[in-house]
Amino acid sequence: MADTPPPAAQPDAVAASSTAAAGPAALLRARAPDLAGLGLDAARPLVIVDVDEVLGHFMEGFGAFLAGRGLEFRVERFALFQNIYHPGATEHLPIEEGRQHYDDFFRYGAGEMRVAEGAADALRRLSEQGGVVILTNAPGQGRLARARWLGRHGLDYPLLLNSGPKGPLAAALAEQARGPAAFIDDLLPNLDSVADAAPAVARFQHVADPRLRPLAPSSPSRHTRIDDWDALRIAIADSIS
Ligand SMILES: [Mg+2]
Repeated sequence: MADTPPPAAQPDAVAASSTAAAGPAALLRARAPDLAGLGLDAARPLVIVDVDEVLGHFMEGFGAFLAGRGLEFRVERFALFQNIYHPGATEHLPIEEGRQHYDDFFRYGAGEMRVAEGAADALRRLSEQGGVVILTNAPGQGRLARARWLGRHGLDYPLLLNSGPKGPLAAALAEQARGPAAFIDDLLPNLDSVADAAPAVARFQHVADPRLRPLAPSSPSRHTRIDDWDALRIAIADSIS
């Protein structure tokens, strides 16, 4: 994102894990539900996958939601709140106003999001090889709509809501798995966070929206970037085999 914290950095999400304590210790250790409690077999490999711009076309869905409110979402930079305008305006909406629309989208509009091409089939096939868990940074009030959306689209895997960088929770999940683990996200801060907290976890960046692909910051030397789900599925499968 250009100058707004990405959803990963939004402070208003509800964490599945308790990371209330501040400081490096809290970053290193996050409580995660145990894999068995999520219905996952700790003896199998683990695939930890994001939702927005990975399994679903978030920006497209958010744009349509805003259009329904008479607003424009302009994909001019890798940002959220700075891209929301009144039609014809040259100045974006105030950040706080944008944040309110963002929160509303998760509660009322995220159910309309289109699934990323090939994502559901890829996860179905990967789930034959290992456990799949969905790790999303979404406001807590969006949990029900999010779970319903996943279920409707053949993505009914265990769902965890996180707040902030995903490394601590991904590490706490991966360290329970006796097999290898992979992590997929669109946002560099989350990928970097997993690299720091759980360097053994294979990392993949995927950006679903073709308009965002040239704008999304990447670091291919650190995290494999694959925007096509068929190719991504093969790479993930290799990484956990
Ligand atoms: Mg995302």
